[in-house]
Amino acid sequence: MRLRELWLYGFKSFGRKTGVRFAPGITAIVGPNGSGKSNLIDAVRFVLGEANARALRGSRLEDLVFSGSAARRGLGYAEVTLVLDNRDGFFSLPYEEISVTRRILRNGESAAWINGSPVRLKDLSTLFLDTGLGQGAFAIVGQGEVDALIAERPEARRTAFEELAGIRRFRERKREAEAD
Ligand code: ATP
Ligand code: MG
Repeated sequence: MRLRELWLYGFKSFGRKTGVRFAPGITAIVGPNGSGKSNLIDAVRFVLGEANARALRGSRLEDLVFSGSAARRGLGYAEVTLVLDNRDGFFSLPYEEISVTRRILRNGESAAWINGSPVRLKDLSTLFLDTGLGQGAFAIVGQGEVDALIAERPEARRTAFEELAGIRRFRERKREAEAD
């Protein structure tokens, strides 16, 4: 599995449709302060199903929508698509390429698609759960997160280990069954 492309429209500082193609190997993103480097990572987290606006450095999810700049008016929605290479069958879906899209409207409504089919937001987080890309996993390590993990309560730390071990899926199901 490999990230192939990231497309943004109306997400944070990206008021114009913007695409990033990741070639095999290491990609480094460089640019001046405030140019949107961290926003790109927020966009990846957003598609992975992040539901907590603060994890995306906003106070509400609506704050993710491009609010305008000196040159360009604000937009009505933000949309991010992640294109993943699945030729190795990493995701148990019958596609060699998986395209995951999430959109959020300024009024807070949201929508998501996997390879063009509408899905629930929960389906996005479930797709990535236990893959190492799930919430609380270490595929993305933010500034200060290593320190935070060390300082974390033991229960919170366990979530991280469960995701690494690939057993969070089962715990989530158990929790859902108990809630029914
Ligand atoms: P640094 O090198 O300082 O870490 P960076 O390249 O990581 O900078 P980001 O944090 O990605 O920069 O981008 C910050 C910019 O994004 C700010 O200028 C902020 O105004 C802009 N921004 C954030 N949310 C929105 C939004 N909803 N609409 C328009 N611009 C936004
Ligand atoms: Mg930054």
